[in-house]
Amino acid sequence: MEHGPRKSEKVAIVVGCTGCDSCRWVCKAEAITFDHEGAHIDPERCVGCAVCVDECASEAIRIVDRNEQQGKE
Ligand code: SF4
Ligand code: SF4
Repeated sequence: MEHGPRKSEKVAIVVGCTGCDSCRWVCKAEAITFDHEGAHIDPERCVGCAVCVDECASEAIRIVDRNEQQGKE
């Protein structure tokens, strides 16, 4: 199996979302969806552009290394 990055080496993750519903509208990749817990970012769509990070007043979105993120769960 190849492990190389498919799109970007960076990906956004959400930790501590307050559900303000701001970030969803700024993501051009349409990677952000919502449910009762708040925002979720689809790593398959996210290109790591960090536009959503600036949008989040709660500082709940972080850009992390994609390979590092794959090691978690
Ligand atoms: S980093 Fe960019 S592509 Fe990824 S969720 Fe945020 S706005 Fe969308
Ligand atoms: S902008 Fe931040 S707090 Fe608001 S919905 Fe998005 S991740 Fe949650």
